[in-house]
Amino acid sequence: MNSSFSMSLARWLDFLYPPSCALCRTALQNGRYLCPECRNGLHRIEKPYCIKCGDHIEGLVPEDVLCSQCRGLEFSFDFALAAASARDKAAEIMHAYKYGRQIHLHRELALLAEEAWKDPRIVAQSNPPWILVPVPLHWRRQRWRWFNQSYEIARTLAHRRNLRCEQALRRIRHTPQQALLPRADRLANLNGAFRLSQRERRVRSLRGQPVLLIDDVFTTGSTAEECARTLRKKGGVEKVVVLTVLRG
Ligand SMILES: [Zn+2]
Ligand SMILES: [Zn+2]
Repeated sequence: MNSSFSMSLARWLDFLYPPSCALCRTALQNGRYLCPECRNGLHRIEKPYCIKCGDHIEGLVPEDVLCSQCRGLEFSFDFALAAASARDKAAEIMHAYKYGRQIHLHRELALLAEEAWKDPRIVAQSNPPWILVPVPLHWRRQRWRWFNQSYEIARTLAHRRNLRCEQALRRIRHTPQQALLPRADRLANLNGAFRLSQRERRVRSLRGQPVLLIDDVFTTGSTAEECARTLRKKGGVEKVVVLTVLRG
């Protein structure tokens, strides 16, 4: 974010929210809301991680390995990747962002997600470049929250990496919380919950393209699965990789 526009936006945010670390309250500058110590203290998902779902695998295992949960399962996305573990301080920041409506934290979360560019599988896709698509919220939830947490992160990330961000998906069904349902029930519960946006149905800008599906947290993977299925089946997307800030 080097343009004068984003600088002035950062100053405006400084004015609204006196810049201090979201965790330890140390005073900060330049529109930052996490101090270097707190940022380094977040639990990154270290290798080895599952090549499909991105979950960390304990013990000494080869690098190209599937975790026990992913063995024998089919996915509509190529693989999922998360920057940090959704526990401790990282979960605290995400909670403040989503439920405390501290929308100014989106930049810190986008910077965290940007660490995925250390992964050669992300870097290797440059021609054609990734198109970022945020997981949509149902309008009713978005009205309640005021913003779509995934879109704010995707937009900032796209700006930083000089990539396109498309709100190509719509959530047409408001589904009950489903973390406790078995996998088959979760997928059935989400069946038909997403569709292509009207614009995307008209312009078909994702056809044959590689998409980075952006979300705040990857938990059971069923939301990512349903979005990826819609992007492939309806949008003709060639490749879908799920990038989240946190891994539940
Ligand atoms: Zn701090
Ligand atoms: Zn896995």
